[in-house]
Amino acid sequence: MEKYLSQLNEAQLEPTIQIDGPMIVIAGAGSGKTRVLTYRIAYMMSKGIDSFNILSLTFTNKAAREMKERIATIVGTTEAKNLWMGTFHSVFAKILRIEADKIGYPSNFTIYDTQDSDRLIASIIKELNLDKDIYKYKQVRSRISSYKNSLITVRAYFQNPELKEADAMARRPRMGDIYKEYVERCFKAGAMDFDDLLLKTNELLTRFPEVLAKYQNRFRYILVDEYQDTNHSQYLIVRALSDKFQNICVVGDDAQSIYAFRGANINNILNFQKDYDDVKLFRLEQNYRSTKNIVNAANSIIDKNETKLDKVVWTANDEGPKVKVNRSLTDSDEGRYVASTILDNKMQNQLNNSDFAILYRTNAQSRSIEDALRKRGIPYRIYGGLSFYQRKEIKDTLSYLRLIINPADEEALKRVINFPPRGIGQTTIDKLIVSANGYNRTIFEVMKNIDKTDVKINSGTKTKLQNFVTLIESFQVINQTADVFELAEHVTKTSGLIKEFNKDGTPEGVTRMENVEELLNGMKDFVEGQKEIADTTGSLAEFLEDVALSTDLDADKGDADHVALMTIHLAKGLEFPYVYIVGLEEDLFPSAMSMNTRSELEEERRLFYVALTRAEKQAYLTYALSRYRWGKLVDSEPSRFIEEIDEQYLEILTPIEERRFNPMLDADIFGDAPPNKIRYKPAKQVVLKKGSTAKKAPEKFQVTAPKNLKKVADTGGNTNLFDSKLVVGNVVKHIRFGTGEVMKIEGTGADVKAEINFQHGGVKKLLLRFAKLEVV
Ligand code: ATP
Ligand code: MG
Repeated sequence: MEKYLSQLNEAQLEPTIQIDGPMIVIAGAGSGKTRVLTYRIAYMMSKGIDSFNILSLTFTNKAAREMKERIATIVGTTEAKNLWMGTFHSVFAKILRIEADKIGYPSNFTIYDTQDSDRLIASIIKELNLDKDIYKYKQVRSRISSYKNSLITVRAYFQNPELKEADAMARRPRMGDIYKEYVERCFKAGAMDFDDLLLKTNELLTRFPEVLAKYQNRFRYILVDEYQDTNHSQYLIVRALSDKFQNICVVGDDAQSIYAFRGANINNILNFQKDYDDVKLFRLEQNYRSTKNIVNAANSIIDKNETKLDKVVWTANDEGPKVKVNRSLTDSDEGRYVASTILDNKMQNQLNNSDFAILYRTNAQSRSIEDALRKRGIPYRIYGGLSFYQRKEIKDTLSYLRLIINPADEEALKRVINFPPRGIGQTTIDKLIVSANGYNRTIFEVMKNIDKTDVKINSGTKTKLQNFVTLIESFQVINQTADVFELAEHVTKTSGLIKEFNKDGTPEGVTRMENVEELLNGMKDFVEGQKEIADTTGSLAEFLEDVALSTDLDADKGDADHVALMTIHLAKGLEFPYVYIVGLEEDLFPSAMSMNTRSELEEERRLFYVALTRAEKQAYLTYALSRYRWGKLVDSEPSRFIEEIDEQYLEILTPIEERRFNPMLDADIFGDAPPNKIRYKPAKQVVLKKGSTAKKAPEKFQVTAPKNLKKVADTGGNTNLFDSKLVVGNVVKHIRFGTGEVMKIEGTGADVKAEINFQHGGVKKLLLRFAKLEVV
């Protein structure tokens, strides 16, 4: 037996060496599903299967790269190069380029990212004179996205009265018109959005049997990771491609299905056995990732879901420490707790920053954590925020490059036609759009033939438009001989971008310049890299495709040592020795928007399961009693998920108090001790009603706090005015709202509130013990 196969247990070995026929591996987190896929590909190649015939679909391109590297160490680099591996989007974008002409697209089509789609949709809403408060572009985009992922074309939409009715019910009767216009405009711009990459692939495979046959023969062996999160469109592609040979291997975990909100369909995994004949089902039960305490805690929570397949997950790993639960007073306290325990852990256990991950439900939560990490000098990196390529200066630069490849690209054109400013105003641009729509031509074509059109503009503006056309055309000439790097260098200079970014000399301007430089460096790497990789030529088109489909998870070179911050959705498939799950509060996690139905709540619970199972050695669950949300201090209750975990696997650093306990009403908790030493008496039975006049909490809520109550519990090392003499008329400074004047003071003890009229933000009522105020 091949040596590498000994790195698998028996249950893993079976699916690894089962090459032919349809098969599914359903198994819990950390049981080696991804490892099986990786080794299986290596095994197939060692058995003489041509790497050209293998297609492997992963959840991120980074995962694909790592798998490829691992395979390369087993079977050799040259062979591994030919493997088709990547996300659905990146793989099928490549195929679409090859076959583009069949569906009426140029092979150099642009890929619109979410930002481009948003801008186009917003502009269509405006052009159609619709109310942008009812037709919110993000909602419209997500609606269009769901049509596309369910393969509902514009025609299908208009043929289906139910869809129209549903949109009308949602007060958006013109949805169909927006959808139609959006699709037409993308088509005319030679652009596909992310959903199109799947939709058009489906169209290609259904309408052209010879194309289908070609790729069926090519991809004789298909493997899919994270199958539980495929949407309908992806499902159909896999189905079609595997139909002839039926050598299809999918792995997944129904308990980790977390993308229903984006159209993922858990039924794909549940129905797999019905879709193919003689499906072999494999289960893996041993978790290699986490300690016993983590595995058991995770099992106990997912048990609460009704909709699930029966599965066993156990581990032979150490018992490890229990899952720690920590309560903080505020979100800043939470941040400080995370930062200080990271430092402690690093000191005690000789760890790197990269051994830690901090996971949250929503991106907005990162801020308070970041503040704390920064203060303690802990390097961190946020994943999944605005990706590098979406920053304004980068998108501007890339837009010029996109126009070179595809002058029809409307969004790119609109971005740079007057950036740097060249005197082409919005009115002119609007006229061009109207004219382009009227002639059914692209804006660029209208500009090029401006004299033959009915666009009414003066001759000065005309010249400016013609100059812009000439500029882009001159770039196109250079693109014929220069590589991406040389071209971009020329473009940024000649277009005036560099000058524009350099103009103001502000720190922001400097950062913008540095980012553009970074982009150019990236291009240099790309050009160099192409000499080593056989399957690409290093063209501008390829570079742009790379960029369009890259997430910043992909951009991570893994070189710097930093703590990782990301949403749980992004953490799928990853693992870290130490994991913090922060913001475990009702309405935040589970999210207030996902508690309307049992199935939504179950998806939140699966999300929590995913989060917890990322941890190898130690998991921390943290929550705060109050937190800034939407600019306001909001009281919060611990997440039900904490209570749902079997308590034998938990170490409660601060006992979970009564759900409805309201710290605002209780004066006694402000002791000298750090917040996590404060002990609450359990008070399950009593519920404080909103608006209760009780100044002092009922007996049940009383807190046994340390005796000396002079100082306020640490809420941030800020000047805390709780026991100082703030009076009406004081001018104070707040980190968020700036300076303001105290108008009124009310309440006593810990309940003292001040009404302050801030320069930015107007009158606010702040609880002094939380407000970060400084008298100026
Ligand atoms: P997830 O559901 O989170 O995607 P998974 O089922 O894909 O998890 P893997 O990521 O493949 O699990 O494996 C989890 C960890 O266990 C990895 O670090 C992997 O290298 C390790 N592992 C898997 N199988 C074995 C084994 N037989 N021996 C040693 N380590 C293993
Ligand atoms: Mg995996």
